[in-house]
Amino acid sequence: MARPGNKIIQAKLVLLGDMGTGKTSLVLRFVKGQFFDHQEPTIGAAFFTQILSVSEATVKFDIWDTAGQERYHSLAPMYYRGAAAAVVVYDISSMDTFIRAKKWVQELKKQGNPNLVMALVANKSDLEQNREVQTEEGEQFSQENGMFFIEASAKTSLNINELFYEIAIRLAKAN
Ligand code: GDP
Ligand code: MG
Repeated sequence: MARPGNKIIQAKLVLLGDMGTGKTSLVLRFVKGQFFDHQEPTIGAAFFTQILSVSEATVKFDIWDTAGQERYHSLAPMYYRGAAAAVVVYDISSMDTFIRAKKWVQELKKQGNPNLVMALVANKSDLEQNREVQTEEGEQFSQENGMFFIEASAKTSLNINELFYEIAIRLAKAN
């Protein structure tokens, strides 16, 4: 809850990444604390809100999830418009999704907002036996692009709160 005197930031957050990387699962884990093994490919446009207090501010997240348009490897301008934060997701068990994540980052940069807080999430870190993308590869790419990097799992909930907490801190600093 908001503390008196604490600044309140309303922030639009968008999710990017290929279909099946776990975008919807990450959001549902963060917002509802739930996970589904057979997450339905998102039905309609999905919009979620969540409030997170960090010491610097209380952040009201307006989270935009895709409705499957990522299949066409691009999203409508209105999806990005006014976004303060973006989370690009890949699946550690699929090199293809990491290569595609790099394209999503390029797409993001084309939107031309230098203050955008960007995170790169290596999701499905529970699938260690099937790992195709090494931690260092994700780390290096995110460093080169000024992104925050974290390995996470919507399934086990590893690092989900940490992800949004770090984004909230960065938003508080940028606002
Ligand atoms: P989206 O298309 O990017 O929104 O991906 P979804 O959230 O629909 O997830 C696609 C599939 O991956 C679903 O079957 C999820 O249950 C599964 N999934 C999502 N996150 C994880 C994870 O962290 N670990 C594992 N093992 N599976 C996951
Ligand atoms: Mg989805």
